[in-house]
Amino acid sequence: MADIPRDYYAILGVRRDATGEEIKRAYRKLARELHPDVNPDAKAQERFKEVTAAYEVLTDPEKRRIVDLGGDPLSQGVPGGAGSNPFAGFGGFGDVFEAFFGSAASGRGRRSRVRPGSDALLQIDLTLPEMAFGVRRELAVDTAIVCGTCSGNGCAPGTSPQTCPSCGGTGEIQSVQRSLLGQVMTSRPCVACAGTGQQITSPCRTCGSEGRVRARRTISVDVPAGIEDGMRIRLTGQGEVGPGGGPAGDLYVEVRELPHETFTRDGADLHCNVTLPMTAAALGTTLVLQTLDSEEKIEIRPGTQSGSVLNFRSKGVPRLRSSARGDLFVHVQVRTPTRLDDAQEQLLRDLANLRNEDVSGNGSRPGLFSKMRDAFGGR
Ligand code: ZN
Repeated sequence: MADIPRDYYAILGVRRDATGEEIKRAYRKLARELHPDVNPDAKAQERFKEVTAAYEVLTDPEKRRIVDLGGDPLSQGVPGGAGSNPFAGFGGFGDVFEAFFGSAASGRGRRSRVRPGSDALLQIDLTLPEMAFGVRRELAVDTAIVCGTCSGNGCAPGTSPQTCPSCGGTGEIQSVQRSLLGQVMTSRPCVACAGTGQQITSPCRTCGSEGRVRARRTISVDVPAGIEDGMRIRLTGQGEVGPGGGPAGDLYVEVRELPHETFTRDGADLHCNVTLPMTAAALGTTLVLQTLDSEEKIEIRPGTQSGSVLNFRSKGVPRLRSSARGDLFVHVQVRTPTRLDDAQEQLLRDLANLRNEDVSGNGSRPGLFSKMRDAFGGR
């Protein structure tokens, strides 16, 4: 086995001028496929030993130098070698963990007692004009604020947190465990201090060492013009204060649009219906429409058909963060008269006769029916 030096570069599949980072990446990739925890196959385990040995050699500058000079640092008879067992030369399995997890694997360290607060969500109902043109609202919010008695540190006045006697202030308890990779030092958070490394021996009476208290406060929110149903306004730092008086989260205000009696909204456009008597549609008329912020005169031209749509440019809702506005669409519906008295019925029959419109009920003149697009296409 010692006769021909093993090609550690080939084992890892890297070039001879590979950087330390490239070697680490190649090893990580291989180890993920071959690690005994993942791949119990005997051949894979043999190969895992091989690539781990190659990684160990090529990341040790001295051993890599021997390889580059044509030697094999893991073979007998070579200075710096350590026998034919590829595992014999290992300084430890720290390399393996380091390659995978970086230095973080050696322990998470102390947790802070002070933690960021959570975000909060609030819903408000607004009318269409409020959504269209913007509004300022005062909101009562139930939230967590910094405790005024202890300023968030959770200790009774005049006292301060003490070092945790269980973990000596490190916040974690270390233990040694055996694994397939040998002995591994693991650490878990200290239970006595919840990993903070500190103990509060005299808790603040106001907040019970939480560092925060519940309170109701009033927040002013500016709703921008053009906001749409379901959108959220973010108020940075107006959410809950965190444990230990930690930085507050954000407050999100979700707006919901109340139905409007006249208009329905489609983005920045508004739609409404106008219902006209048959006579007004035939003869033409002028209507006044109260829009969200103005009065509009609507000219109904003689002969206006049911289903026609009148478009008023820029009379809709302002677009969010823009000076542009959507359009207003008025959909015309013509009401056919019902419950005619004798005189009215006679007038309509006379009109039908004058217009040569057959109302006898047995006519099926050509041209009475047509394709949809002809009936609804034009005026
Ligand atoms: Zn307090």
